Amino acid sequence: MSEKTAATKVIKCSFCDEQAVTVIRYAKLRLCRKHFTDFIVRKVRRSIERYRLIESGWRVLVAVSGGKDSNSLLHILAKLSKEMNFEIIALHIDLGIGEYSKKSREAVEKLCKGLGVPLVVVDLRELIGAGLPDIVARTRRPACSVCGLIKRYVINVVGVELGANVVALGHHLDDLLPYIFKNFILQNLGEISKLGPKTESDEGLIGRVRPLYEVFESELALYATFESIPVVDETCPLTIRGRSLESEVRDFLERLESRSPGFKIGFARSIARNIDFYRRGLASSKPLRRCAYCGMPTSEDVCAFCKLTERTLGKPMGPIVREKVRKVIASLGLVRKSEASN
Ligand SMILES: [Zn+2]
Ligand SMILES: [Zn+2]
Repeated sequence: MSEKTAATKVIKCSFCDEQAVTVIRYAKLRLCRKHFTDFIVRKVRRSIERYRLIESGWRVLVAVSGGKDSNSLLHILAKLSKEMNFEIIALHIDLGIGEYSKKSREAVEKLCKGLGVPLVVVDLRELIGAGLPDIVARTRRPACSVCGLIKRYVINVVGVELGANVVALGHHLDDLLPYIFKNFILQNLGEISKLGPKTESDEGLIGRVRPLYEVFESELALYATFESIPVVDETCPLTIRGRSLESEVRDFLERLESRSPGFKIGFARSIARNIDFYRRGLASSKPLRRCAYCGMPTSEDVCAFCKLTERTLGKPMGPIVREKVRKVIASLGLVRKSEASN
C-alpha cells in the first residue's frame, strides 16, 4: 500500500466505525478517542493485576505533582478504584517554588474536585517555614536530590498517618527504562531493583507501586488531552537541563522501539521478572531503627530529613511535620476506620 493512499483515506478505529486518532504500533491497533482512553485504562488494570500492585479493599495514596503523568494516573485510578474495589486519596506537596508550585497546586485541586477524590495538600512553607528554594540555597546538594529526599519523607509520613497500604507513583515506562539502562551500564545492579513496578514496604515504611510501568509518555500526553485533565505544562524551574547519559540512553531506546515496536514493554517485563536477582545487588541493608527525633524508620540514628532540616534550618523538623500532617488528616476526616468506608 502506498503512503499516499493511506494518508488520504480516513482510517477507522479497530473496534468501531469512528475515525482512528492514533495508531498503537506495538499492539497493532488503530483507535478512536474513546477506544484509546479505554485501552490505556485496561492496560493499567492489567499491570495492576500482572504485578499484584493493589489488592481489593486497600487504601491507596496517590502522589500527584500537577504534571500530566501523575494527574493522568489519578484519573485512571479513579476509574479503576470502583471496578477493582480500592480507595484512593491524593497527596500533593506544595514545594513553594513560586508560580510553578501555585499552578501545579491549582491543577491538582481542580482535578480532585472534578473526580471527587479526597486531597491532602502538604504545604512545605506552612509545615517547616521554608520552601524548597530556601532549603536548596542552604545546602550544596543539587535541587532534585533535596526535593527527592523531602518528597520521600513527606509521602512516608502521610502514608503512615493515613494507614495507606501503598503509595502509587506516576513514573511511566519512558521515565524508568533510561534509568534502568543507565544503572546497567554503570553496573549499579542493586539500583535497578528500585525501578521496577513495585518496591516492597519495609517495616514502618510504605511500599511504592508504579501502575504506569508499561505506559509510554506519549500515551499519557494523549490521554491527558483526550480526557481534558488539568495539568501544569511546564518543567520545574529548578531542573538542570543538560545532555546527560539518561537522555542519550532515551534516544537509543527510542530507536530500538521504532525499529521493533513492543521492544520497550518486553524489556520492562524482563526487568520485572528478574527483580529479585537485582535486589541481591543491593548492599545488605542495615536493620531499620527509629529516628531519634521523629520516630520514622531509618538505617541511621537520625533520619535523612531530620538531618537535612537540622543542618539547613537549625532544627530537626521531622516531629513538627508528623504532628502537622496528623492534624491535616484529622481535619479532612480521613483518619482510617477499621473498614474502608465509601
Ligand atoms: Zn473506536
Ligand atoms: Zn527524623
